[in-house]
Amino acid sequence: MTPELSVVIPMFDEQEVLPLLAQRLRPVLDGLADGYEVVCVDDGSRDLTPALLHKMARDWPQVRVVRLRANAGHQAAISAGLALARGDYVVTIDADLQDPPEVIAELLATARREQVDVVYGVHSDRSTDSVFKRTTARAFYAVIRLLSGTTAQADAGDFRLMSRATVDAVNTLPDSNRVLRFIVPALGFPSASVTYRREERAAGSSKYPLLKMLALSVDSVTGFSLFPLRLATYLGLFGGALMLLATVGLVVLSRTPGTTIPGWTSTVVIVAGVGAVQLFCLGLLGEYVGRMYRQLQGRPTYFVAYDSGASAQSGPESGQTVHPRT
Ligand code: UDP
Ligand code: MG
Repeated sequence: MTPELSVVIPMFDEQEVLPLLAQRLRPVLDGLADGYEVVCVDDGSRDLTPALLHKMARDWPQVRVVRLRANAGHQAAISAGLALARGDYVVTIDADLQDPPEVIAELLATARREQVDVVYGVHSDRSTDSVFKRTTARAFYAVIRLLSGTTAQADAGDFRLMSRATVDAVNTLPDSNRVLRFIVPALGFPSASVTYRREERAAGSSKYPLLKMLALSVDSVTGFSLFPLRLATYLGLFGGALMLLATVGLVVLSRTPGTTIPGWTSTVVIVAGVGAVQLFCLGLLGEYVGRMYRQLQGRPTYFVAYDSGASAQSGPESGQTVHPRT
């Protein structure tokens, strides 16, 4: 029997928040769908999360505990949950209660009413995020929008509802380091959105340090846009034209009596400038070559250590192509 709704929750060291999560999520789900499952993906937590999850599963039969063998990162943990979820609808939600569980009811109602495949949760305001988070997030979306012309909404994170067809489609995508918030809109399935107020993290601290955020940005850009590669060409063309002009100017100057061409300073500046641009372009190429290399290696992004709901169905043991990073 397939549940009507699966709720996929990635969690990494969330011992502080788990009891609060169960308290708020359960009443919502109990009153909502005929059959549901809560797929808790423990992303290799090192604290009491696994023990708390087992206790939670004992008291709450719909809870299914999936443990990844090692920390695979937020996106990979969600991918693991999506691969294992069985519901006709699947909602992904963070564990920290920043996305209010009550909104799940609205997501589901919207999906049924409007007969759409995807319902995005969109934050109405980000006032509960830190100034740093808000600024970096805004910059992140501005860059992505500029580079890849994505249809992703700026304030939609990973709180969304997807139909079975959408989840199946996402599961077949071979992308490594997939960033779901851009991949799902790129599918172009019929969608709607529900706005909600993003709350404060209920307990514990953010599991998204700056480095992970940077990795997510690089994956988003290189996963969706060839513009940076073309940028190298544009820069090359522009630099070439500039050099031609400069050469003409310098030749003219050298023929004009009385003007001294500045010595090596200008030369050094030009050489250094050109060198920097070349290195930058090489770096860009490296980013894409690295991506292809990883894709060729085809290493799984995550390894499932156990799945408490596996008996009913033999699920995949590991994600096929996504890489162990955020
Ligand atoms: N998370 C995860 N693996 C990680 C980092 C985070 O599964 O390596 C989970 C985390 O437990 C939470 C969600 O991803 O449920 C979002 O993380 P967090 O709230 O720390 O990020 P922020 O809201 O600060 O961006
Ligand atoms: Mg959070």
